[in-house]
Amino acid sequence: MTISPSDLDFDHNQVWHPYTNLKKPTPTFGVESAEGVYLHLSNGQKLIDGMSSWWSTIHGYNHPELNKAAKDQIDKVSHVMFGGLTHQPAISLARKLVEMTHDSLECVFLADSGSVSVEVALKMAVQYWFSQNNSKKTKFLTLKNGYHGDTFGAMSVCDPDTGMHSMFDGVLPKHFFVDAPKCGFHDQWVESDIDEFKRSLDENHQEIAGVILEPILQGTGGMRAYHPEYLRQVRSLCDEHNVLLIFDEIATGFGRTGAMFAYEHAEVAPDILCVGKAITGGYMSLAATIASRRVAEVISNYGSGNLMHGPTFMGNPLACAVACKNLELLTQSDWKSTIATIERQLKNELEPLKSLHSVADVRVIGAVGAVELGEPVDMHRVVPRLVELGVWLRPFGKLVYTMPPYIVSSEQLSKITGAIRTIAEEAI
Ligand SMILES: *Cc1c(COP(=O)(O)O)cnc(C)c1O
Repeated sequence: MTISPSDLDFDHNQVWHPYTNLKKPTPTFGVESAEGVYLHLSNGQKLIDGMSSWWSTIHGYNHPELNKAAKDQIDKVSHVMFGGLTHQPAISLARKLVEMTHDSLECVFLADSGSVSVEVALKMAVQYWFSQNNSKKTKFLTLKNGYHGDTFGAMSVCDPDTGMHSMFDGVLPKHFFVDAPKCGFHDQWVESDIDEFKRSLDENHQEIAGVILEPILQGTGGMRAYHPEYLRQVRSLCDEHNVLLIFDEIATGFGRTGAMFAYEHAEVAPDILCVGKAITGGYMSLAATIASRRVAEVISNYGSGNLMHGPTFMGNPLACAVACKNLELLTQSDWKSTIATIERQLKNELEPLKSLHSVADVRVIGAVGAVELGEPVDMHRVVPRLVELGVWLRPFGKLVYTMPPYIVSSEQLSKITGAIRTIAEEAI
């Protein structure tokens, strides 16, 4: 045991974890090492990670080929500034991203986290209109229940109720919001679902630089998959009204929903795309904003033509080298049938939970399974209980959900869904 009780005490009192109160610490578990789908805790327990460390470790932990990619790159150069210098890992990664995404997406900004890639996308959209001498288009239109990150710009387009808008009222810029789509992914399309979006765009398009949304699946806002027709209509309305379209695929990208990118379910493409999370297979922080040639050209043609962003660690060689190997593992695998198999099992094992009184809804798309309970989950009780059951899940609100690593075996996945069932049964 290397994490001592006094270490944990220090951690509780002096180290912030995501969304935590230093005076009311939630249960925190020390991780010694990890391998495949397993987390090895300091107390000797072994947990199946049903979260992929927040959508990221798609090929599992401690992967020999990803380890090798990182070690090989460390021996060459771990980091070098990207201002005025370039390197093979960044070039190869950018090429791969351009190849994997829609043909219209051609120009790549390598950001250091998802939130930053969203900031860059918003900035690109505003600069696109400034470059055409239009200084009125500075607002964004987005959906309620959305999540785009925790920096100020990203926060301003997150759901206004759950997204900290009241806490930061007066600090955040105000944007336009419409209700999230009601038509589910598998539902019959109802034409009126797009009405509110259309009305808002009709009324406000002269002020709107871009629409930003999570295509097909709203993740953090509730794991709800909506109808592809909604996205198709969004695309044509944006074109009609001269508004850019930004897709945030930081959670959904790289196969998670059963398509390489969720927008493929609707056969549309954005003007600007944000990717992150799974891009390095969970090894380190990296994200990218990929724009159409047209967006890049308009920005480049005005004034200095500079896109005004450049973080210190942009294009970090170590992260890019691991990302290249990670994307190679993904594209060379039979990921489509892997995800389809996980989806089938999640449906078989989670959908029957609908009959429990404590369960309000069950939603599955690709390798994402969510069970919505009638009441918010008591994290102080439920998380240690899940650990006792041998799985790592981090419920939020009323949701107990899983997005397992793609390498999960059917026995391991059953253990995850079994633990979700136990939590739902014990909530009755
Ligand atoms: C996680 C997430 C982000 C933010 O990414 P970070 O790397 O945490 O900054 C943005 N958008 C979506 C859809 C996400 O799921």
